[in-house]
Amino acid sequence: MACQNCDFLGKGDIIYNSRLWQIALAPEQSYLGRCYVTLKRHTGDLADLSSDEILDFKELAENLENALKKSFNATMFNWSCLMNDAYQKKKPEPHVHWHFRPRYKEKVSFAGRIFEDSEFGHHYSRDRKIIVPKYVQKKIAGRIRKFYDKD
Ligand SMILES: [Zn+2]
Repeated sequence: MACQNCDFLGKGDIIYNSRLWQIALAPEQSYLGRCYVTLKRHTGDLADLSSDEILDFKELAENLENALKKSFNATMFNWSCLMNDAYQKKKPEPHVHWHFRPRYKEKVSFAGRIFEDSEFGHHYSRDRKIIVPKYVQKKIAGRIRKFYDKD
């Protein structure tokens, strides 16, 4: 099985490993703190999640949103579960994962850069791509981690 999401587990800048999900920072940071939240089990449909996986996700979502509010003053959050790319293949092997994009009413200055959500209040842009250098990714991940799961 060649599932990119299964391969991705355990790699990248991990923010947190819950029992059943992994949070990793995306290298593309046009929305500061953008993460992938990936189910640790290979399954391709939200409707197939167990109650346990849903409850674990609920707690994770609460902690992650709180961490982003505390880290960077995020205003609200876009969660998308798409999985379209998997169906470009002859034998689709979708794997449940979320694209998590914090959204910002105000600009954020961090690690010597200005992050601005110029589409705030509207659908996120897929054209705007800001791949930040590794050292900036590490700083962003470090900041979020610091606030994750702490009151
Ligand atoms: Zn998989």
